[in-house]
Amino acid sequence: MSATEDCLFCRLVAGQIPATVVTETDTTLAFRDISPAAPTHVLVIPKQHFENMAEIVTRQPQVMSDVMATAIEVVQRESLEEQGYRLVANTGEGGGQTVYHAHLHVLGGRGLGWPPG
Ligand code: 5GP
Ligand code: ZN
Repeated sequence: MSATEDCLFCRLVAGQIPATVVTETDTTLAFRDISPAAPTHVLVIPKQHFENMAEIVTRQPQVMSDVMATAIEVVQRESLEEQGYRLVANTGEGGGQTVYHAHLHVLGGRGLGWPPG
């Protein structure tokens, strides 16, 4: 935990970096990815700093539930249920994580290949 000043997403939560917000709650923020990989590409983060999803589940499982609920709200707002969508949590270097503030990618709006690269 901690890491507020050096963390990109903590700075975004603090309003120091602009973001296109889709929705938010007391504990979570959903905003559009700056480099979208699909027509809908939204990041859902806890407002509090955690390094990854495992840290949220270990320390504050309720926040993990909040992140999931916000992701599903994004799915509904973007009308992705019928076509389908993908929730992704890249974790660690080998998992492709580049920002070490936990986040869930909500991807949809096109057919998504499997397995991922
Ligand atoms: P990761 O690679 O850690 O799974 O995902 C990090 C995501 O954050 C990437 O998809 C990247 O495009 C996005 N990102 C990086 N910097 C910013 C930023 O300043 N604003 C927004 N909205 N997204 C960002
Ligand atoms: Zn952070």
